[in-house]
Amino acid sequence: MGLSPLQSIHMTEKDSIKVVDKVNDMQTLSNSVRKGGRIISFVPTMGALHEGHISLIRKAKEKGEFLIVSIFVNPTQFGLNEDYKKYSRDLEGDLKKIKEIGVDVVFLPDVNEIYPDGFETYVEVEELQKPLCGQFRPGHFKGVATIVLKLFNIVKPDIAIFGEKDYQQLIIIQKMVRDLHLEIEIIGLPIIREDDGLALSSRNAYLSKKERKHAKALSEALREITKSFDQGHNEVKDLIQRGRDILNKSLIYDIDYLEIRNGRTLESKEEAQSGDLVAVAAKVGNARLIDNMKL
Ligand code: AMP
Repeated sequence: MGLSPLQSIHMTEKDSIKVVDKVNDMQTLSNSVRKGGRIISFVPTMGALHEGHISLIRKAKEKGEFLIVSIFVNPTQFGLNEDYKKYSRDLEGDLKKIKEIGVDVVFLPDVNEIYPDGFETYVEVEELQKPLCGQFRPGHFKGVATIVLKLFNIVKPDIAIFGEKDYQQLIIIQKMVRDLHLEIEIIGLPIIREDDGLALSSRNAYLSKKERKHAKALSEALREITKSFDQGHNEVKDLIQRGRDILNKSLIYDIDYLEIRNGRTLESKEEAQSGDLVAVAAKVGNARLIDNMKL
């Protein structure tokens, strides 16, 4: 890797992958990589890596010259009654997958390293955080924007890659980057799905066999809506009802939202247009799943 001036950085090797767990060490390393003129690409994750994450990591490797992946389950984006404690964790499996791709460094901090006692500074993207998941997970996007800004200041990437799976998160981060003049290129990549259409998610692990079968109705509902739109239906109320019928047929009644909104501003609308976002969040058993498609 040519890291000769970096002896003072504390880096461990886990399964021959370089792991940094301290903020100072990560910043020193990134400063040195940048000074050497190399482009840093970055993929932030909460671990339990699947093919969705892997697609981002591969793209990041292609786009940059020094690839950093972070694994950090961020407590400030979970509500009090949410699944922070039982969120899937599989460090060993994650490192194995990362090793296969070959990344330069994994940033793996402790919660106390990121949020030391007395931490009290947050960043919020005021309007974009309000609709969709924002209505049902108060404080979630404040936690997301804050951790992503912190990670950007620690990892100092030139390019950061996110999935469209978390569409609202992606456009919130793009907006934060614009509003705060961060010199980081944000790239969004398409959702990776199972063969039956279910979007890959670390939370799919919570599903029983039966729930897993029902869960495919989420993408089916979205597809029915995009298909109906393509056939000339554009009344939002009618399109949404078609989607809800499909969810209900699969016994999915605990629906946080199924909505069509402007894909850029997330404003609600009565008539759908090409480029609009169709987004769903619903509980299937204990798993709160989200998915989306563009019209
Ligand atoms: P997470 O570990 O859930 O915080 O996700 C880390 C990154 O992976 C985020 O940018 C997600 O949007 C992205 N991601 C999660 N699931 C998928 C998927 N099925 N396809 C593409 N990207 C995904």
